[in-house]
This record gives sequence, structure tokens and C-alpha cells, in this order.
Amino acid sequence: MDQRNIFLSLAQGENTAGLVAAAITSPLTEELLNMCGLTWSSVHKNHENMVKVALVAKSAMGFETVRVPFDQCVEAEALGVELDFEGYYPKPRRFLEEILEFNFMGRGRTMMVLQAIRELREAVGPDFPILGGVTGPFTLLNYLLGPAKTMLLSRRDPNIIKDYADKLSASVADYATEMVSAGADAIVIEDMASSPDVLNPKIFKTVEVEPLKRLTSRLKVPCILHICGDTLKILKDIPETGVKVFHIDPKTNLRVAKDLVRGVTLAGGVSTSLLCEGDEKSIVEASLSCISLGIRIVAPACALHPKTPMGNVKTMIKAVKNSAC
Ligand SMILES: [Zn+2]
Repeated sequence: MDQRNIFLSLAQGENTAGLVAAAITSPLTEELLNMCGLTWSSVHKNHENMVKVALVAKSAMGFETVRVPFDQCVEAEALGVELDFEGYYPKPRRFLEEILEFNFMGRGRTMMVLQAIRELREAVGPDFPILGGVTGPFTLLNYLLGPAKTMLLSRRDPNIIKDYADKLSASVADYATEMVSAGADAIVIEDMASSPDVLNPKIFKTVEVEPLKRLTSRLKVPCILHICGDTLKILKDIPETGVKVFHIDPKTNLRVAKDLVRGVTLAGGVSTSLLCEGDEKSIVEASLSCISLGIRIVAPACALHPKTPMGNVKTMIKAVKNSAC
């Protein structure tokens, strides 16, 4: 079976032999960008640079998936939020006063991301998995209105937030559908603002589960939900969102997680702070521990810290590949 089919089969929860060393979230590091001779802003703004760095993450680090884009602000920018591209990742310079329109397809960098996916498909061929990254409706709302206003409204008037999130989920689904037409094999939904670290789990259930369900039901490829932090309190709600895969952070008790997300495949599991600061032995142990707990798509638990040494990432990937033999 080729790498694309192994990935898709594991994502669907099938009992296929094999393991995947994946990058579900951003694999970018300073070392990787220096190796490519590219600046951080240029890989977010230019499709050729985006493709180049995605391919070097595959060839130099050894990841068995490629993904674009690398930041979570494409949708917010396309809806009118001005971004600051000065740091590692773009962030909103100022938020919107109110959301007047929800449809963003074709605006901002959306067409550039689709072009990057088409070029990635040409570069990796038909047998290698490509992931398209989108932002979860509630997290997108945080990028549009700002976290303070979104949180306030979520507590005061969750129905307004749910209505916004529902409308955004339709637009995100349009965008993700275009990604699939361009060549994406699966869609990663990054939803960090839904983490119980920042959002009351009851509010998550009210404002985000239904919008996520609307989003996933529109797509014909597996969806992978990424929420960082300790997600124990929302794990039982994850199957209802319709995602096939939950990308989990080891801050969550991995031993009990599998039973709580019934029917959903777990991916991820390797701490990004360990990858940044740990030694070889501890990285190998953490990677093997994920496998022993039943995680078959092993990946850094979140975007890599930019200072992460490439050697540490290779150690994780090698441990997974050696176990697959
Ligand atoms: Zn994360």
C-alpha cells in the first residue's frame, strides 16, 4: 500500500498495518527556513515558497505527510482582518467591529493556498498524502472579533456566537471543498480557541460541536480536528463533530483518551516542548509510548516551536519508521 493509502486507511480507523510519522500542524522551524533560504513572511505570502518549504519538511526531516498553509489566519484575513506578518506566524493587527459578511472564498490568500496544493500534488505525485489546513469556526471567530469579545459574547449570548459559527462553518466548508478539488486528501481543522484551557467545555458543546458537524458533513475526505492542551473534558463530544481523527496533545491523559473518543482515530501525541528541548532518549521513549498506546499516526502534538532542532524531529520520525518495519 502506498503512503497516501496507509494514511487514509489509518485515518478512517481501519486496522491496516503500518505507522505514519506525520506533521498535522505546522512543521516550520528556523533551521528549516534557513536551509531553504526563506523568510517566515515569504512562506506565508508566496505559494512557490510555501510549496518549497513544505517539500523540504518532507525531504530533510522525513515527514510522511505534507500540509499547507502554515498559519491559521488565512480565513480571517480574507474576511477583512489586517494581519501583521512580522513574527514567525501572521497575527491580527486589529479585530473587526462586527462581521458583515461570512463568505471569503477567492479573497485574500485563499487562491494562493489552493495553487500551493495543486503544485504540491504535482511535486509529490498521486501516492503521498497532502493535508489542507483550515481554521475551526469558533477559533476563526476569535481571530475576527478578538478573544475578549468572543469570550464575553459566548458567556452572555451563546446563541449569537453559535449563529456566527454556523455561518462561518459553511464558508470554511466551501474553502475546504476547493482544497480537496485542488488535491488535498484530508482536511485539518485547527481549533485552538476551543481548548478547555481557554473555553468552558459546556460552552464548547453549545457553540462549536454543531458548527463542526456542519463543516465535516460537507466534506468527502477525512477531517482531522486539532485542539491543543488538556482536552479530557471535551473528548466525549468529539465523535459528535463528525471528524475521523482527533490530533491530541499529551497534556491529555492518553491512556483514557481512546475510550472517550469512541470511533475517532487518535493522532499526534508527541510533546512539542519535548521535541524542542528533550534529549534523544526521551524523544524516542515518547514516540514509542504513543505507539504502545495505540496511536498509529504519530506527530508533534502542535505546531513545532521555531527553535526546535531538526535533529530532534528526525529522531521522532526515525523511531516511528523503525517501529513500522
Ligand atoms: Zn495546537
